[in-house]
Amino acid sequence: MALVVLAGPAGVGKGTIVQRILASEPDFMLSVSATTRSPRPGEVDGVHYHFISKVEFEGLIAENQLLEHAIVHGSNYYGTPLNELTRAEAEDKHLLLEIDLQGARQVKARIPQALTIFISPPSWEELESRLRNRGTETEEQIQTRLSTARTELASAGEFDFNLTNQDLDSCVAQVVELVRKYERGS
Ligand code: 5GP
Repeated sequence: MALVVLAGPAGVGKGTIVQRILASEPDFMLSVSATTRSPRPGEVDGVHYHFISKVEFEGLIAENQLLEHAIVHGSNYYGTPLNELTRAEAEDKHLLLEIDLQGARQVKARIPQALTIFISPPSWEELESRLRNRGTETEEQIQTRLSTARTELASAGEFDFNLTNQDLDSCVAQVVELVRKYERGS
C-alpha cells in the first residue's frame, strides 16, 4: 500500500485528477479529510469531507487522531484522520491524500516513505482563469487562493515528483505510473 500525497495550488485540477484515478483504478482510495469549513452545494458529509465544528476539530488534535492538520487559506482547519490510514491498510488500497503544502510537509516528516507529488499548472494565467471559471469562490476568496498559490508553487522542489497538469489524461496516467513504480520498488 502506498500513501500518496497530491499537492499543488487550488485550481490546478487535483480534485479532477483524483476523481479520474478513483474511477479507473480500483486499488486506490481517497482519504476523507475533516474540515471546519461549511459544505458547498452538492458536498456530502463523510464523502467529500467530514464536516465538523471547531471544537470537535480541536478535540481530534488533542486526542492525536490526525496524521496532519493545518489552517488553510487563513480561515478553516483541515486535517487527515489517522483512521483513513487504517482503513486503507485494511482494504489494501493505495491512499490518496489531496492536501495543502503544510499538510504535505507534516506527512513527509512523519512518514518518510510517503510518495509526494506536486501538480503545477501549465502557466500562472491558466491557474488564474481555472480558479475564476470554477465559480465556487468570491473574488476575495480567489485573491486569498492566488496568494497561497504563489507560496505553494515556490515549494515544488520539496516534493518527490513534479508534474504539470497540461493535459488531464496524461497527468492522471503519470500519477498512476509513479505509484505502480513505487509498488514495484523501482
Ligand atoms: P477546499 O476548501 O477548496 O475543499 O480545499 C482547500 C484546500 O485545503 C485545498 O488546497 C486542499 O488541498 C486542502 N485540504 C483538503 N483537505 C486537507 C487536509 O486534510 N489537510 C490539509 N493540510 N489540507 C487539506
